Amino acid sequence: MLNNQLTLFIKDIFENSELNKLPEKFGAERFFADPIIGIARGDDPMFQKYKEVVGPEHLTPLEMWIENGLDIISASHLYTISIVFPFVERIRKEGSEKQITKARIKLPAEIYSIARNYANDFKIFVMKQVINFFKERSYNATAGMLSKAFTIIAKGRFYSTWSERHVAFAAGLGTFSLHEALITEVGCNVRLASVITNAPLEITKRKSDGPYGNCLFYAKGTCKECIIKCPASAITEKGHDKVKCNNYRLKVARRMIPRLSPLLKPYLRRINWKNRDDTYPVGCGFCQFGVPCMDKNPVKEV
Ligand code: SF4
Ligand code: SF4
Repeated sequence: MLNNQLTLFIKDIFENSELNKLPEKFGAERFFADPIIGIARGDDPMFQKYKEVVGPEHLTPLEMWIENGLDIISASHLYTISIVFPFVERIRKEGSEKQITKARIKLPAEIYSIARNYANDFKIFVMKQVINFFKERSYNATAGMLSKAFTIIAKGRFYSTWSERHVAFAAGLGTFSLHEALITEVGCNVRLASVITNAPLEITKRKSDGPYGNCLFYAKGTCKECIIKCPASAITEKGHDKVKCNNYRLKVARRMIPRLSPLLKPYLRRINWKNRDDTYPVGCGFCQFGVPCMDKNPVKEV
């Protein structure tokens, strides 16, 4: 019952929020289609495993709960709601077809860069609304991404203290992939957010604990389309090179920000627990466009 109410509540925000709209110049339409949600229990052993898989400073739901000043309770009484934000078909189509090359740098479609930029504000709004949803029903709730404990850690390797992809995996929403995204039933061209609550919810069963089942390369040894699409050679059969990827994303940002600047919204980043100057994320994402896993789970239909 509470699960159904929550699903309808989130769907309504996606349908009606002005924050889920492109600017007039791009048609003022929605940029995210309907969400999918999944729920993991706070004591799911997967969260302990993430301290090895993601990094030692990755927090469990209970650790994040306590970091955010909430009362200590048993991890088994916490639930993590993960929300998938799928980009609409128009963005997926134009993102695949309207890429341009300037001074030998491949640039994303403008509509995608704008949506990718606006996605941050909308995700924050959704998380805050979901927290209120629970508080109005006399439960408590918090969000990892909104926490002071959230930071990107850049110490030789890059990871964050709260990985939305890993939370989504625990919540049964998809699996990882060669391009290091999460392939959900509506594809990898999505954004993710999550909320932790003590409200009793029904959990979403994972189809398998195998981490790569939805990626054609890992499941069948085929595809590798994302390797071809990446202009930075950041993806190989050995996986995704975050440093190469990040360097290319900075090149894209240096060119896209001046093109779109009056329309872009700033976003605060935290790196190694310190706030950095505002950035204007504009994405890159060529590895997610025009590939078999862009808008579906490609393993399902093979
Ligand atoms: S494009 Fe193919 S190989 Fe790359 S992540 Fe998607 S399914 Fe896997
Ligand atoms: S985001 Fe861009 S640079 Fe990074 S792997 Fe994908 S296509 Fe390559």
